Amino acid sequence: MEDVFRFADDLGPLKLVHIHRSSIGLKAVVAIDNVARGPAIGGVRMAPDVSTEEAFRLARAMTFKNAAAGLPHGGGKSVIFADPKMPLSDKERLIRAFAGAIADLKEYIPGPDMGTDELAMGWIKDEIGRAVGLPPEIGGIPLDEIGATGFGLVAAIDVAREQIGLSLTGARVVVQGFGSVGQHAARFLAEKGAVLVGASDTSGTIADQDGLDLAALLALKAEGRALHDHPRGHKLGMEAVIDVPCDIWIPAARPDVIDGDNVARLQTRLVAEGANIPLSAEAETSLAGRGVLVLPDFIANAGGVICAAVVSIDEKIRANTKAVLDEVRRKGVSPRTAATSLAIKRVHQAMRTRRWDPPPG
Ligand code: NAD
Repeated sequence: MEDVFRFADDLGPLKLVHIHRSSIGLKAVVAIDNVARGPAIGGVRMAPDVSTEEAFRLARAMTFKNAAAGLPHGGGKSVIFADPKMPLSDKERLIRAFAGAIADLKEYIPGPDMGTDELAMGWIKDEIGRAVGLPPEIGGIPLDEIGATGFGLVAAIDVAREQIGLSLTGARVVVQGFGSVGQHAARFLAEKGAVLVGASDTSGTIADQDGLDLAALLALKAEGRALHDHPRGHKLGMEAVIDVPCDIWIPAARPDVIDGDNVARLQTRLVAEGANIPLSAEAETSLAGRGVLVLPDFIANAGGVICAAVVSIDEKIRANTKAVLDEVRRKGVSPRTAATSLAIKRVHQAMRTRRWDPPPG
């Protein structure tokens, strides 16, 4: 029998939930790693080849990311075993069914990830009342539009490049996975004078040591087309993105793309982990041995969760204001009195958990 406790250590996972609804073909796993800092926030990934192990490892990365960013959240992640390119109406049914299945897992707050987007979070919110990364029309910040994660990644690169004496002016950049994170990272780096010399998506790799036409590639992707549709640059296979010489290599696609077998092929000075868990521990050690600096995922790519926390500010203030005004209506007291009694009640609630200073009365 498979050992379901094989991931267990002193941090978690708190729960690994297996979801199976054969009538609509839903197969998913939710990993809630640790909730000591608050409800677990983590993306919903949809891909045919996800695994329980991937869900757990990504949930652990989220535990670390939220803690490092000082957010009042734990780490979680869910994976849905399905092709994200299915017709939109089928996807909506599947995501709504998934939402129903996690309705009672109140310590898990879903967010967008590979294969899901803001619209999908809107469906989940509609079903169960909680999700982050919502469409702007229902109060979300368009994280992928403003490029919060790519922006943060470039901030991390900017700090790191000082340490290794690398100027961003003319620095050669390669991006594996020219999606939301990869495109924005390339855009913000170009604003600082760096040059994109290689990029990949599922169609393959495109490379040119003299610099790719970033604006044209962004326009192409905005039309929903593939990098290989671009008329210029060298067209190579998907794996060849590892071999393109550069100063900054950005994994922004899938986990485990660099391991002990292919790490020797990387020719770069800095690896900035846009994706979560893209490098094995062995690969990171090998790069360190060669003097290549690797910026860990949960520090460098936390821009999205930091930005998403603003949504929880919005939610908290709204919920509090509503509670205060309801009390005003119910009891005929002033908003100040209602607010003060709400605050005192919460302080007392917290004090009840303390051994030495319980609340009065
Ligand atoms: P996305 O779906 O927008 O983009 C992913 C891109 O990678 C697509 O262009 C896809 O074609 C490409 N791709 C997929 N498999 C590939 C492969 N094997 N080789 C090359 N390209 C491949 O996703 P995203 O939101 O940009 O996220 C990318 C990664 O960054 C994921 O690992 C995600 O967990 C991580 N991440 C995202 C955010 C965020 O705010 N979006 C935040 C932190 C971490």
